[in-house]
Amino acid sequence: MKPQHQFTQSQFEVARLGPCERTSPLQLSTTPGDGRCDYTPDDMRILFEPRFRAGEPICPLSMEHAGARERIYFDPMEVKAAIVTCGGLSPGINNVVRTIVLELIHNYGVPEVWGIRYGYEGLNGNVGRPPIALTPEVVENIHHRGGTILGTSRGPQLPADTVDFLTARGINMLFCIGGDGTQAGAHAMAQEVERRGLKIAVIGIPKTIDNDIEFCFTTFGFATAVGQAEIAIDRAHVEAKSVYNGVGLVKLMGREAGFITATAVLASGEANFCLVPEIPLELHGPDGFLAKLKRRLLAREHAVVVVAEGAGQHLLDEIQGADASGNRRLADIGYFLKAEIERYLKAEGIPTGVKYFDPSYLIRSLPAEAVDSLICERFARAAVHAAMSGRTDMLVGLWHNHLVHVPLGTSTGLKKRLDPESELWTSVLSLTGQEKW
Ligand code: ATP
Ligand code: MG
Repeated sequence: MKPQHQFTQSQFEVARLGPCERTSPLQLSTTPGDGRCDYTPDDMRILFEPRFRAGEPICPLSMEHAGARERIYFDPMEVKAAIVTCGGLSPGINNVVRTIVLELIHNYGVPEVWGIRYGYEGLNGNVGRPPIALTPEVVENIHHRGGTILGTSRGPQLPADTVDFLTARGINMLFCIGGDGTQAGAHAMAQEVERRGLKIAVIGIPKTIDNDIEFCFTTFGFATAVGQAEIAIDRAHVEAKSVYNGVGLVKLMGREAGFITATAVLASGEANFCLVPEIPLELHGPDGFLAKLKRRLLAREHAVVVVAEGAGQHLLDEIQGADASGNRRLADIGYFLKAEIERYLKAEGIPTGVKYFDPSYLIRSLPAEAVDSLICERFARAAVHAAMSGRTDMLVGLWHNHLVHVPLGTSTGLKKRLDPESELWTSVLSLTGQEKW
């Protein structure tokens, strides 16, 4: 996270389509603070930095608190909403789709919700498949399934084309579920909408299994991924302990951020080395990873190594270009490390057996576990409330466990990374002891 002094308050002011002149049809308590499910007052804020040194002034920088508003912008009967899912899979996408649909239709009384097919491609009438009508019946059971019932894709579309599509179909509310690329695309669309003077709410919901979106302490899919990754680490430990000098090597998701890897390592307690993109990986030399692994094997006769997919990329010669969205394709650190470990230990005369685990696709495609289902529920309802109140060009974020509204123009381009000074990383070092070998 950038230090707070790099932001100004105006960067947290959320765009609005117009004044809220209607009373919400939701039947919530109107007495703030009585412990019931209140409407959130429009001026309720969450402090950017809640910590402070006693006696020093509190930083007044704050974000808008998400939640249902008593006064709304849209007449629910005039809303035509659409939902699009983009980028890679993450457990819980269908839960988010389902809750958006149910909240819009059951609670606000919105008559029409459309599901855009295969990502932003479905917002280009010239290339995409037509949208499908989303009803409570269609979404009834989808939260038990992994993936996205709408389909997803990578690859850019021109905002001019996608906004043409929305206007041609009379869609005035768009929910964009996806990662950094998706939110950049949503921001581009919202800007095009504003340029044309249209009244279309564009709301982003962060989907990042790697947990690398800024202003979002955690997102759906992460807990499920960590739980499954922990199982893989535990299995690798069993394999490693079962043979003399066994090495269990697990590759986990995390293209540029090591949160899943570090968190799963802590949850498992069985890893001896945790390699993440944020910490440079040196293989050779007396303090390199391979020498440390050797010392560990000589002392304990087994080792478990957990590596994030984006770790040690500088060690790999062939950088394999980019995908359809322009994301850098990563060369496979897992196979590379396996080969390097085997080659090094053989040269050192140390017999070993390396067992390699790559559970990534098994994990991404799972349905959400309970903790993630709850996060999906919270994000999706907050997104609907924000849209109904006429907010636009914003992302639903999670800040100090409060849902907040973050302007897409502020969140786009910022990437959350594991801080080597953080409690998370120092705990990993304490647990693995990897720097001491
Ligand atoms: P993941 O976490 O899986 O990477 P993502 O949302 O970042 O999710 P991408 O494939 O990078 O996945 O992007 C999703 C969609 O957003 C793609 O259609 C991509 O072309 C589009 N997109 C990415 N960056 C931009 C941008 N700067 N402006 C407009 N559209 C973008
Ligand atoms: Mg991305």
